[in-house]
Amino acid sequence: MENFYATNTPAQILNRIFSLNLDLLCILSIQGQFEKINVAWERIFGYSPEKLEGTNIIDYVHPDDRDATVFIFSELIHTSHRLTFSNRFRSDDNSYRYIDWEFNRHDDYVYVAGIDITHTKLSAIGLQEARKHLEESHIQTALRELCPIRQKILVVDDSPLNTKILETALSEDYEVLITHNGKEALSICNSDDPPDLILLDIIMPEMDGYEICNRLNQGIKTKDIPVIFLTSLTAANDIEYGLTLGAIDYITKPFSVPIIKAKIKNHLALKYYQDTLKINTDVDQLTQIANRRRFDDTMTQEIKKAKRTGTILSILLIDIDHFKFYNDTYGHLEGDTCLKKVASALSSTLKRPRDLAARWGGEEFACLLPNTNAKGAENVAESLRATIQNLAIPHDSSPIQGVVTISIGVVTSNPMDESSFDNLLKRSDEALYLAKEAGRNRIAVWHEDIESMGPYL
Ligand code: GH3
Ligand code: MG
Ligand code: MG
Repeated sequence: MENFYATNTPAQILNRIFSLNLDLLCILSIQGQFEKINVAWERIFGYSPEKLEGTNIIDYVHPDDRDATVFIFSELIHTSHRLTFSNRFRSDDNSYRYIDWEFNRHDDYVYVAGIDITHTKLSAIGLQEARKHLEESHIQTALRELCPIRQKILVVDDSPLNTKILETALSEDYEVLITHNGKEALSICNSDDPPDLILLDIIMPEMDGYEICNRLNQGIKTKDIPVIFLTSLTAANDIEYGLTLGAIDYITKPFSVPIIKAKIKNHLALKYYQDTLKINTDVDQLTQIANRRRFDDTMTQEIKKAKRTGTILSILLIDIDHFKFYNDTYGHLEGDTCLKKVASALSSTLKRPRDLAARWGGEEFACLLPNTNAKGAENVAESLRATIQNLAIPHDSSPIQGVVTISIGVVTSNPMDESSFDNLLKRSDEALYLAKEAGRNRIAVWHEDIESMGPYL
């Protein structure tokens, strides 16, 4: 043997051992980082040495087995040099395999051998159960497909240690933003790219978590962002107070990472469904422009704003001319296509960011024009009318132009009379009626003596 060591360097010996393929061998740092792996890792898990070396073994362990594996490391450091145990380890294709491990620590390194026992385990625990265990990754893939956007979590805590723990625990699955003070947290939440969830420390200098939560609740843009309090205050009344402020949950310090992760996963899934639902309940399914519900909500808000700021608001009610004939001539499906074209043209003709075009119902549409006077509203209406006529959608049975046209009723609030806001819809309908009466493909503007004098056309 002396001769063997004389003619072979330790590195050569190690490399030859590590080229054996039967089972898993590796050397880890005491922190769990891969220093060297043998070729079996590629055969069993699909990982090349380059891919694994420098990464941490804990990151590949099944989430349910992670705590136990971390515990093994602490045992190795503090009480023991050699331990055997098993866990589930993730392959490159995201499936998991059961491995029996032997860990042997010398100084700052851990020498590891592992046997793939997936087959034995499968027959032992039954196929059904095993599927459930090993297909966790498929569930996660399915969840990711359901929820394709990487959701964003804002962590607000003045302790750098806490934020570091949370960042490490969450950044694999979420985009994590960190801030140590309340003011910055509020400005992130009010930006154009707000977080989907906030983890909020309660005790902080300057502005505490309760106050931040209060301010978030008061902002229209921020009131729907879910808040979870991070707190070392565990008295029932502290927790109750936090929840009455609108927080959806609380997590007590010191953290349990698996509990935090589970809570966040549930709350974010809920947030995702709420967001999706919100989009769907605001949008008309056929035309994909705003629906009546959204129009009503926006109109209520704009009326409040106009009253508060003393500004004017105009409304256009639009109806396609002789649309019944269109359906009768071309069929209902062609009718639907026509509605989509008209909706999209109306919507893209409006230029100001607060203008809103919505499908009012059937072949009727409504436009909301905040801060727009009668003359302005008339101009917009005329340009909408011309746009639709210029689409030149053939309408052979229309007695008007041989193309699809619209009639529009225009109404503007009276800055001298607050009650005029309450009659906007009724009046736009009256004006629309007159536009139809006067021959269609035109606009009618509502004014005080509309009934006695007829519309201004
Ligand atoms: P007017 O010029 O007086 O407005 O005549 P009109 O034929 O457009 O008015 P009327 O209210 O008599 O008919 C509206 C038609 O719109 C009847 C209805 O079948 C059609 N319509 C309503 N909603 C839809 C829809 O979602 N798709 C299709 N294809 N047609 C619709
Ligand atoms: Mg109609
Ligand atoms: Mg019509």
